[in-house]
Amino acid sequence: MKKTIKDYNLKGKKVIIRCDFNVPMDNGIIKDDSRIRKSLKTIRYARKNGAKVILLSHLGRIKTEKDKEKYTLKPIAESLSKLLRKKVIFIEETRGQKVEDAVKNMKEKDIILLENTRFEDLDKERESKNDKKLGKYWAKLGDIYINDAFGTIHRAHASNLGISKNIKSGIGFLVEKEIKELEKLTKNPKRPYTIILGGSKVSDKIGLIKNLTKKADYILIGGGMAFTFLKAAGFSIGSSLCEKDQIPFCKELLEKHQDNIILPIDIITASEIKEGTKTEERFINEIQEDEIGLDIGHKTLEVFKQYIDDSKTVFWNGPMGYFEIKEFSKGTKDLCKIISSSKAYKIIGGGDTARAVIEMGYEKNMDHISTGGGASLSFLEGAKLKALDIINEK
Ligand code: AMP
Repeated sequence: MKKTIKDYNLKGKKVIIRCDFNVPMDNGIIKDDSRIRKSLKTIRYARKNGAKVILLSHLGRIKTEKDKEKYTLKPIAESLSKLLRKKVIFIEETRGQKVEDAVKNMKEKDIILLENTRFEDLDKERESKNDKKLGKYWAKLGDIYINDAFGTIHRAHASNLGISKNIKSGIGFLVEKEIKELEKLTKNPKRPYTIILGGSKVSDKIGLIKNLTKKADYILIGGGMAFTFLKAAGFSIGSSLCEKDQIPFCKELLEKHQDNIILPIDIITASEIKEGTKTEERFINEIQEDEIGLDIGHKTLEVFKQYIDDSKTVFWNGPMGYFEIKEFSKGTKDLCKIISSSKAYKIIGGGDTARAVIEMGYEKNMDHISTGGGASLSFLEGAKLKALDIINEK
């Protein structure tokens, strides 16, 4: 068992908390603050117990100087100050004299937030490539390190793995809850256990699918990745998304798990991917050469509903279609409704899927919505979670 923030005496200690404030932004406006709200419990606990709180987080990807303007953490500090009803001191640097002075002057219960850790990526990707010196530098700012950023827990970055290597470490309440919830899927899930996978690529999810065929009772596949499976099953898929090099893998899986892998039986097609385009609903053996499959059809939804209604545990990751365009969003929306009304234990695996569920107002109907898309999939896959493995054991 990993140490948690509760295993440390925090009084008067400088506690570095790695949060996940990677929220959707539009021109400096936070579009959805759920990740910020989910970090409050750990921050409040640290303050209540007399810590000097130093917050770190990444936001977006930083490739050019211009990206810095777009992805500054300043709006996050403002939002946090309001939510905590306590001034969060924002330091516009990731390291250097300003940072060191601010840390030196901290009193118990103070909170400072340093600038976006990924600003360091402009110099040889020091954050994302886990530059040893950078991890050591950040570690020196504190006494204890708490990882509460589940979204990056499968990555080896300087602000997680790098710091943990150098000082005492533990996990925060958010990461603890994520692990507890996701273990319901890996340790004796209530059966039948059904997994619904969508999104664009099979190649991104090979390890996961291989692993899940052994663990889940049913895997329902939609989204762009369904078409490589359909092609492997011998159907003509027109101009739909297809990863030719994955066909042998899909074929082998379909042969081995004929009754457990459930593919669409009808789909929504169009000749172009654009708003207002004319669509057709086709059985999978009717797809025309010039058509692109962009959503699952209503008969597929009926089939998926049967499996979901019959399940005691459901995990969903990945949209069922090109849901950013209204004409191809029905499959994802209807699936969201179907899962919401099922009696199963329902877990949503981060990313686009979590956003769709929250935007549609179904957040309350789910048992758990993970804050990490890639991280939750890595967890289910049984892959090594580098930034978690390094955390001190109890
Ligand atoms: P991923 O990042 O792999 O989870 O994939 C998410 C993306 O898959 C979304 O942007 C969807 O628009 C896209 N997607 C879902 N279904 C399809 C499809 N049938 N054809 C092309 N793209 C799709």
